[in-house]
Amino acid sequence: MPSVISDVTVTAADAASVVGPEVPSKNGRFRKLTNSATWHPGTHDHPRSSSPSGSSTDSMNQSFNVNVGDGWDRPIPNGVFGAYETEAGGPRSRAYARIQTWGDDPKTAQFPRISKSVELMRHSYDCVVIGSGYGGGVAASRMARAGESVCLLERGKERWPGEYPEDTGDAMKQVHYSGEFTPRWLPGKVVDGGDPTGMFHLIFGNGQSAVVCNGLGGTSLINANVYLEADDETLQQEAWPKEIRDRKGCLKRYYEKAAEVLEPETYPEDWPKLPKLELLKKQAACLSMEDKFRRVRQTTRFRNGPNSCGVEMSPSALTGQDCTGLNDGSKNTTLVTYLADAWNWGTDMFCEVEVRYIAKAPSNQPGYIVYFAWHGRNRGHFKANLHGDLMWVHARKAVFLGAGAIGTTEILLRSRDMGLELSDKVGQNMSGNGDIFSFGYNVDDEVNSMGRPFPSPYHPIGPCITGIIDNREGHDNPLDGYVIEEGTVPAALAPFLQAMLELLPGSIEPTGEGLVDKLKANLARVGSAVLGPYFRKGAIGKTQVYLIMSHDTNQAYLSLKNDKPVLEFIGVGRSDHVGYLKQVLEKATKAVGGTFVRNPFDALMGEQQVTVHPIGGACMARDGTGSTGVTNHQGQVFTGSGTEVHSGLIVTDAAVIPTALGANPLATITALAERSVDLYAKENGLEIKTTKNETLDLFGSPQHSHHRSNRGWKDRVEDTQENAKIISAHTTIETARRMNDAGFGFTEVMSGYIHRDRGLKRDNIDTYELAARTAKSLSETARFFLSVQSFNIRSIVHDPNHKALLTGTFVCPTIEGSPFMVQRGDFNLFLLDRKAPGTRNLTYDFDMRGINGRKLHFHGYKVVDSSVALSPAQFWRSTTTLYVTITEPLPESLRRCADADECGLLGDIVARGIMRIRPEDFVSEAMTLTPTGSSLLQKAISAGNFLTFFTRKSLSLLLSPLTPLQYPSQTYTGFVNNTPPTTTYKIKARDGVVTSLHMWEPENPMIEPKNLFMVPGASVDHQIFALPTIRYNAVNYFRRAGYRIFVPVHRIGMLMVAQDDWTTFDARLDLKACLEKIRGDFPGSDGEPEPTYIIAHCMGSVALSTGLLDGTIPGSWVKGLTCSQVFMNPIWNTMNMIKIMALPIPADRLYRLVAGDWFSFSTGKNDSLLQKAFNELLRLMPDERKELCNNASCHRCTLALGRCWNHRNLNEATHRQIDRFFGGASMTLMHLLMKQGVAGGVMGNGPLFERLDTLDNIRRLKGIPIMLFVGRDNAVLSPESTERTYEILMDAFGMGKGGGDNMTVAGASGDAAGTGNTAGKSAGIRYHRRVVPGYGHLDCWMGRNAWKDVYPFVREEVDRVVRGEKYHFHEPNDHFKRLVDSGKLLY
Ligand SMILES: Cc1cc2nc3c(=O)[nH]c(=O)nc-3n(C[C@H](O)[C@H](O)[C@H](O)COP(=O)(O)OP(=O)(O)OC[C@H]3O[C@@H](n4cnc5c(N)ncnc54)[C@H](O)[C@@H]3O)c2cc1C
Repeated sequence: MPSVISDVTVTAADAASVVGPEVPSKNGRFRKLTNSATWHPGTHDHPRSSSPSGSSTDSMNQSFNVNVGDGWDRPIPNGVFGAYETEAGGPRSRAYARIQTWGDDPKTAQFPRISKSVELMRHSYDCVVIGSGYGGGVAASRMARAGESVCLLERGKERWPGEYPEDTGDAMKQVHYSGEFTPRWLPGKVVDGGDPTGMFHLIFGNGQSAVVCNGLGGTSLINANVYLEADDETLQQEAWPKEIRDRKGCLKRYYEKAAEVLEPETYPEDWPKLPKLELLKKQAACLSMEDKFRRVRQTTRFRNGPNSCGVEMSPSALTGQDCTGLNDGSKNTTLVTYLADAWNWGTDMFCEVEVRYIAKAPSNQPGYIVYFAWHGRNRGHFKANLHGDLMWVHARKAVFLGAGAIGTTEILLRSRDMGLELSDKVGQNMSGNGDIFSFGYNVDDEVNSMGRPFPSPYHPIGPCITGIIDNREGHDNPLDGYVIEEGTVPAALAPFLQAMLELLPGSIEPTGEGLVDKLKANLARVGSAVLGPYFRKGAIGKTQVYLIMSHDTNQAYLSLKNDKPVLEFIGVGRSDHVGYLKQVLEKATKAVGGTFVRNPFDALMGEQQVTVHPIGGACMARDGTGSTGVTNHQGQVFTGSGTEVHSGLIVTDAAVIPTALGANPLATITALAERSVDLYAKENGLEIKTTKNETLDLFGSPQHSHHRSNRGWKDRVEDTQENAKIISAHTTIETARRMNDAGFGFTEVMSGYIHRDRGLKRDNIDTYELAARTAKSLSETARFFLSVQSFNIRSIVHDPNHKALLTGTFVCPTIEGSPFMVQRGDFNLFLLDRKAPGTRNLTYDFDMRGINGRKLHFHGYKVVDSSVALSPAQFWRSTTTLYVTITEPLPESLRRCADADECGLLGDIVARGIMRIRPEDFVSEAMTLTPTGSSLLQKAISAGNFLTFFTRKSLSLLLSPLTPLQYPSQTYTGFVNNTPPTTTYKIKARDGVVTSLHMWEPENPMIEPKNLFMVPGASVDHQIFALPTIRYNAVNYFRRAGYRIFVPVHRIGMLMVAQDDWTTFDARLDLKACLEKIRGDFPGSDGEPEPTYIIAHCMGSVALSTGLLDGTIPGSWVKGLTCSQVFMNPIWNTMNMIKIMALPIPADRLYRLVAGDWFSFSTGKNDSLLQKAFNELLRLMPDERKELCNNASCHRCTLALGRCWNHRNLNEATHRQIDRFFGGASMTLMHLLMKQGVAGGVMGNGPLFERLDTLDNIRRLKGIPIMLFVGRDNAVLSPESTERTYEILMDAFGMGKGGGDNMTVAGASGDAAGTGNTAGKSAGIRYHRRVVPGYGHLDCWMGRNAWKDVYPFVREEVDRVVRGEKYHFHEPNDHFKRLVDSGKLLY
């Protein structure tokens, strides 16, 4: 393909309008490309002619040569653009070189992430490294290579080339300022603002301020890359430890190690000439220092291919943007070297983690606890909690401090305040490295030092610093040595530079200039002002940037004021020497016709310098003791002023450097860090592997992620468990990341009172309230500060578990081990509560670990039930009140339970209480709501989804009475306990009516089998005792206690025959027939029929009473009786009475008129219009708010019988499918029931409706032990029903022996009535009446907790009567016990 370049000549002005690339010509003019065939933006950044003569070739694969002067005249070998190119290539425009996306799909523009979410942090590591600059990077890489498990904590965020700010707006968002703002003209003020994790951290100091960088990579992300070794004279000063000062060259091998990784090289001779470098050379000559001028080694890449650690790099695009981060992928930061290596060897890195202090681990553990504030998930909105409720990680062997001179010193100062014994030299002997910034403004020559992301390849700016005037040698006093370097100003600052340089005081104009020169200078100033900083002939285009490093007095110090680090640099500057250095720069500027301008900051703050090289603060001691330094020569921290050191506490960053270096410090920091970790490894028998990395796939997995574990067996088991959880969380996070899923998160603080008491076993609101009240009186406060994060919005919105991850802290000083770390906890939002119908819970479930290693489990739930209906205030209370249980965690294997929200309650109780959200914390919480996603649109969708879900669920609870009626479900759900009878008999009563009798054989072979007849009420069947929707029902329970259970389904039960207008009075015949069957087929051990113990519920009990009272059923057939809710004196509850009395004609007649003889309790969506209208009408039935529901069948039961349960005692499955357990009632039955319930006594059938509870009839009951019980909240029958029966029995038979216990007991002995019933004699006949608190009517049998609240006292009575007073039931170690022990029955 011929490359055709026409020789059209254009001017510079024309050049601005050139759309295609331009080729500079030898004479400085442009040759414009006319044939687009020569322009391959995807492959080449500028066209090249194919031969030295510039003639074209046929193939782009051939060697090119561009003969355009200015160093561009060189052959370019074939294949220079290959990914693994090692030859130096030409400078590239950012459009080509920028590592914008490492993924294949440019649309997703994904960047690597080698740090992990804090959600994935382990609770303990061999080594914890703080900070990720040179010091931190070296420690992490080397320790990981030595096989240690390493955790690195970094305050800033992770950003890769392509993500660094380029304009002023972006850069300003990344500013963090702190310290004491002390311009000479204002009183000092401690300030702290901006983004605490932002890249550019400006630390105001008194006398000098400092700039450092926060980010994964530390200040290496924004430095100027100069790799300059310290000179021997400096290292031999007295202030250095003798192990270094007396061993000249001892750092050499460590400098080499550092260089092997960072690969410093000088700006290639064959690359384009850089005006600023050329000018510095000229200025060196003017200062008679040409011999001291040279190109300086720098950690910038000038070639393609993987770097020393295996990360693919690009050659410099010569943007000059180094100090705001290079997007061209040419900077060998620690991110792409040491940290990438550490990642590849298994280091876990976490960002936005600000370490606050270090403490020794409690005595039962080795190492240190590193306390940190996590800025992620917007936790900063909780200002008091961020630094108050600190998270922590355990370092088993070592902590390496690499937080930079200021960061490390601050951590040590705070650690000392928190009790860690340290030298009192912490914070002293700091230095600004004698830094001086200034400018040579508007010089004669073009300098081109304003950085820009897209520099023209024909006017390259260059890396920030490329040249040096190295004037360190040959001074009598080594402190007089210094270096001068040129620099660039990043684009973010360029627009303001001219105003700063011109308006602020401190400029020294050139003298002795002629008129023409002055005119030229003024034109240049106007040019810059009008055409901007990139106008090459303008004043800013002709501005040289200087950076001097020299020696100050190292007398600065750092202290904590209001817990914030404040720098004092007063009198550090060696003002005479500084004055001299400024004169040198002034001379160098004048020589090239410019105006010397001091650093504008200097002028603004009143003679204050800014250093980018803060060093010291935790200096190495010169004499090996803590009286002259904070660490020894290895960086090990002294325990005081002696020689003893804290084992494994090591400073590896700029803080250890005891004097100014008079040179850029990164090489020395890195070398010293290499030395410290090398010595640590040797002391601890660790081998640092030197295997070279292959090219890294930063989107894949590290090549070496497994650590040799020399931990004990117990720890390894723990590690395995932790691993499993981490892998699961990691999969969730990674999948979401790969799928580019949007997520949602927020942070929450709740506080309250939790009482430590192992006896608080009951899981009910009263227990929690009691515990909280007790805790309050004992000041047992508790608080958590938790971040909730869903990485995939679909999981929280659509997954029925509505699950998210919890991370943070729980503090409760009275629980040993506090503060506790919470990691990988489960949060469920509006989880359907299977325990209670119409209820949704917000649950918090997590294992947490105390600083002493203690592990506990936290289970908390907020209950949003029908009590919130139409009550915003109650809704607020419900969603902000958390019922908390803290338990000893069970081993994983025992934790599985069907209901996710119940698992947390397993294990021994440690404490219980209540926590709440305070209104002010709620405001902060609202600020933390954050959607995540890769685009604005995705974030908006994510926020929309979450808020819609939240609002929908909230409104469905808040407005539940107005929501659509719930009709029977099509499918069976929650049928967890199928209890089929052993045999079912057809029973024919004496009037020929056929009903059924179900029988279950006993299950306990250790106990003699006895018959137990359990009679259900009207409209139901055997299922109320053998309920399939609860885990343990009454039939299960009594079979286990050794009873053969018989349950009839009588003619007023759930049978077709019930529609034939039968009543309770008629049903007595079925009961008699059943008893006959039992007596005949299941006699006692002697073969004779035995009296049977009967448990009868509601209308079943009424039917039984009519049979006993009228003599149909002989009293001698009855061993004893337990009557549930009623016996012979039914009295309706108030609401039922009102329903009966308020209507002008009886309700049954009214219904008969409108809808017929039969009222079905179940209904469906396809019911008649009349019935559906009726259903809607029933919603209006008044009831307590907490009992409101929108289940149509439940309403119908309530209409006919009254509310049959306290809703909270049922579970969701029972309530949802209540229609499956109820039939209906005939109006004839209803009529009799109403009559009996109003009259307060049982009756025969109409038309006479004869009362049967006459004194004569009652005598037939004599000798039968009877227990009556009733739910205190019974809304069907008044508790008076049983009370009246009890009184009648007492009046009739008097107080017998053994009466008068505190359960209202009456007794009568003997068989005075001559009924033939002697059963009571031996048992000591008693009449009991018992009220069951918290229960209503049918929930006494169908309730989810009836197995522990009701069945046991019934069984005790049955046992007492059937098996004798002395009988004691021994719990078999069976399925039931296992269910109880595993907590599966706990709901
Ligand atoms: C603009 C600029 C240009 C520079 N140019 C050069 C140069 O050309 N050559 C040279 O030799 N030097 C240069 N430097 C200085 C050099 O980069 C630093 O001296 C060097 O990076 C210091 O290394 P360090 O490991 O001590 O700390 P840093 O690199 O500063 O790293 C410290 C890390 O610790 C983190 N950290 C701080 N506090 C905490 C905490 N509490 N918890 C967790 N993490 C924390 C920080 O976020 C940071 O990432 C320059 C500096 C700047 C600002």
